[in-house]
Amino acid sequence: MDLSEIKEKFSVKESDEIKVFTENEEYTGIMLPSQNNKTLTIKMKSGYNIGIASRRITKVEKLGETEKVEIQKTKKIIKVEGLPLISILNTGGTIASRIDYRTGAVSPAIEQEKLITNIPELMEIANIETKMISEMFSEDMTFENYKNIAEEIEKEIKENKPKGIIIGHGTDTMHYTAAALSFMLEDLNIPVILVGSQRSSDRGSSDAAMNLICAAEFIARTDFTGIGLCMHESSADDNCVILSGTKSRKMHSSRRDAFKSINEIPIAEINFESRKITYLKENYSRKEQGKELKLKKELEEKTALIKIHPNISTETLKFYEKENFKGIVLEGTGLGHIPIGSKGNEKNKKNLEVIKKMTEKSVVVMASQAFYGRINMNVYSTGKDLLNAGVISAEDMTPETAFIKLAWLLGNYSQEETKKLIGQNLRGEITERSDKRGFEVIK
Ligand code: ASP
Repeated sequence: MDLSEIKEKFSVKESDEIKVFTENEEYTGIMLPSQNNKTLTIKMKSGYNIGIASRRITKVEKLGETEKVEIQKTKKIIKVEGLPLISILNTGGTIASRIDYRTGAVSPAIEQEKLITNIPELMEIANIETKMISEMFSEDMTFENYKNIAEEIEKEIKENKPKGIIIGHGTDTMHYTAAALSFMLEDLNIPVILVGSQRSSDRGSSDAAMNLICAAEFIARTDFTGIGLCMHESSADDNCVILSGTKSRKMHSSRRDAFKSINEIPIAEINFESRKITYLKENYSRKEQGKELKLKKELEEKTALIKIHPNISTETLKFYEKENFKGIVLEGTGLGHIPIGSKGNEKNKKNLEVIKKMTEKSVVVMASQAFYGRINMNVYSTGKDLLNAGVISAEDMTPETAFIKLAWLLGNYSQEETKKLIGQNLRGEITERSDKRGFEVIK
C-alpha cells in the first residue's frame, strides 16, 4: 500500500496519534508529513522521528488527535528602555533551527519574533536584534565564512553599538571559528560569545535555550571583552561556562557539556537558576577606554593540519611539501613527535628528510594530539632532531588553534614575523608555563 492508500483505508491524517503495525513490530507516535508516498513518518515519544516503509505496514490504528500543528503564534517584541542591546548573528547549525514538537518540521527559529517566542526570557535580559548571516552546518565553514562573520561583527559594532554579540553556530567546528575570530578581531572591546546546541529544540533535553539565556546574562553584566564560547558546564541543567575562544575544544560527540577548556581554566560560570556569574579566571581581558577594533582578516589558504599516526607514509608528508603549503601544523604524538626512525624502523628516517625540505620553504609547527599538557621537544632525541630540522613548538595550543593562528599569521605577517609570533601569546592561546591551573580542571 502507498501512504495515500493507508491514509484512506485507516482514516488517519497528519497530526493524529497513531499505532502502526508491521508484521513483527508496533510503533506509536504522531503522524508527520512525509517526504514521499512510500514512507509513513511518525514522531515517537522519545522525540525521534522514524520512517516506516508503507509496504511493510499491515494496519494503522488511530489513537487520538492532536491540535493541528502550526508554527506557534509569535510574540510582539517590546523594547525596554534601560536594557542593554545584544545582537545575535546566526550562522546556522542545530541552534538555528526550531523543530516543532509534533510535526517534526524544521523552521528557522532565529527570525526575531520566533526566537523571542521560543525564549521569552531573553527579552527580560536585553533588547535583542537578530540577523541570519548564513544557514550552514559548521563543518562546511571555510576561511571565507570566517571573514564574513568578522566583517558582520565589525559592521554591527559600528552601526548599532551593542553591549555584546552572540554568534549562533554549529558545534562541530565552533572552536575553529572562535579561534579565527579571536585573531582576526584585534582589540575587540565588547564580548562576542559563540553559542551552539548539541540537541535540537524538539527534545526535552535541548540545551539551546539555556545556552542562549546564559550567554545573554553574561553579556549584559560582564566587563569581559573578546571571544568566548557559552555551553553547558555539565550534563545537568545547572551551569553554563564561558570558555576562551582560543583554548576550547569539542571533546564529546553528543553530550551537552561537549566543550572543554584545554590547558586553561574557564573564564566564568553562570548558574542558570540564580543567574549568578562566578568568575573562575582573574586575568581575563576587560573593557578599556579608547581600545579600538582592528580587523586583520587575511588567512593563508595554503595552511594544513596533518594528523601524525603510526605507519604514516612519507608520501603523505611529501604531498604538502611538493604542493608548497606555506604553513603546516603537525598534530604529533605525545610531547611533539613524528616517526623519524628508531632501531628497526630505519625507513621512517625519510620522514625527517621531508620535514627538512618543508622547513626550508614553509613554517612547520608541532602541536600534540594529546591535547592536555604542552609540547616539549627537548626530552627525546626525536624532538631534538625535529627542532634542529626547523620545526617550531606550538607550546600548549590545541592543534586547531595552532592551525588557525598559523593561517592568520601567514595571512597578515611576513614569514619571519610568523616564525617569531607563533610561539608568543597574542590572544590567550598560550598559557604561561608556571600556570598549572589548567590541569586542575581536567575531570
Ligand atoms: N553538524 C552540526 C554543525 O556543527 C552540529 C551542530 O549544529 O551542533 O553545524
